[in-house]
Formats: sequence, C-alpha cells, structure tokens
Amino acid sequence: MSGLADVERAIRRAEADYNRPRDSVRLIAVSKTYGADAIRPLLDAGQRRFGENRVQEAQAKWPALRSAAPDLDLHLIGPLQSNKTRDAMALFDAIHSLDRPKLARAIAEEAARIGRCPDLFVQVNTGAEPQKAGILPADADGFVAECRDVLGLPVVGLMCIPPIGLPPSPHFAMLAMLAQRNGLSCLSMGMSADFEAAIQLGATHVRVGSAIFGERRSSGATVPG
Ligand SMILES: *Cc1c(COP(=O)(O)O)cnc(C)c1O
Repeated sequence: MSGLADVERAIRRAEADYNRPRDSVRLIAVSKTYGADAIRPLLDAGQRRFGENRVQEAQAKWPALRSAAPDLDLHLIGPLQSNKTRDAMALFDAIHSLDRPKLARAIAEEAARIGRCPDLFVQVNTGAEPQKAGILPADADGFVAECRDVLGLPVVGLMCIPPIGLPPSPHFAMLAMLAQRNGLSCLSMGMSADFEAAIQLGATHVRVGSAIFGERRSSGATVPG
C-alpha cells in the first residue's frame, strides 16, 4: 500500500508546511473503476473513507465490503440523477454533488421519509464551464440558503472540480471564500495532481484516486450515475 502511505505522508507534510492543524485534512480514497480486490488491501491498512462517482457501480461492490468494515465512510463524488436519490441515500454517508434545486428537493423528500440524511456538499462550477455540473458562483449563496434554511438540509461544505489545464489555485481560493461567506466549515477540493495546493488554500477533504490506486484504464469520467 505504498500509494496510500505516500499520499498520507504528503498530506501530513502539506498540513505542516501550510500551518494547518495536524489531521485537519481528510483523505477520500477514490476507488471508482477499481474492484474489491484492489480495495481490500486499503481496508486492511485502516483506510475507511472512500469515494465513488457512480451509484450503480458503488451498489455492486460496497455492500459486501461494508459488512467487513462497518465503520466505513462512503462518499458520492459524481453527479446524481434525481431518480437515483433513494439508492444513493441508502448507500452513501456523504454526497458531494448537490448541484441543483430539483436534486435538493428530492434529497429533502427522501430525508423526511427515512429520517436521516448524508452530509451534503454543494458543488460549485467555479470555472463557469458550460459542460460541467455545479451551481454558478454567483448563485451559490442563494442556493446554500435555500438548501439549509428552507429545506433544512445538512449542508456541511462546498466542492469544486477546477477546469482542466488551468492553474487550480484561483478556483480553490474562490471556493474557500464562498464557504467562509456562508459559514460552511468543509471544503472538498484537490485531486491527485493538486491536493497539496488545495490544502494550502483550506481543503478539509481531498479526493485522491490515481495517486493511490494507479492510473485508471477506463476514464472513470463523471457520467451521471
Ligand atoms: C476521479 C475523481 C477524483 C480523483 O481523481 P484522481 O486524479 O484520480 O485523483 C476526484 N474527484 C472527482 C469528482 C472524480 O471524479
């Protein structure tokens, strides 16, 4: 598990370098496209927080793994279709892709039905990219208020995926500013290539896949799941 140990070490070093409290950054090991055989050694090494980007793929592999690790902390980091809300809320402990009013209403309805709700992150489209999911930065305050104050949802933070090929730090800084302005304590930002820069700018949850598991064969693209 050298990948996991290396990433853990790099996170602790970045915390020290950037004056962040030790263990203030939580590692989400992104296991999308990887099967149980690749995941089990991480569970054996003590890793409990994992991320998946498709509901169906997660449903196929995690129930069996969870029975061996009841303290698992499973995060949905990919887009969520409203009609998969029930399945997602039955499986995941946190959802990072709350990105539109219709989904917020579906989550609130299901939360009322089952009497609990995963921790929620509002996804912000910091680069205002037309093809990318997320609330536009200008709409973030209003959407957070609607989710939290009108629908009563447990919004804990914000999440972003910066545009490919541009320096990510301005996007991380924008997300941190929006979170602070809205009194949100969690920031889901930073992937294999840039988690140290994200930690410098306040990330509390980094989502790291390939640096732990190796390069994915399939893209693991963020298609709706
Ligand atoms: C795949 C994925 C990651 C992890 O990406 P790596 O570059 O493999 O670390 C992080 N966040 C989201 C939303 C993803 O889909």
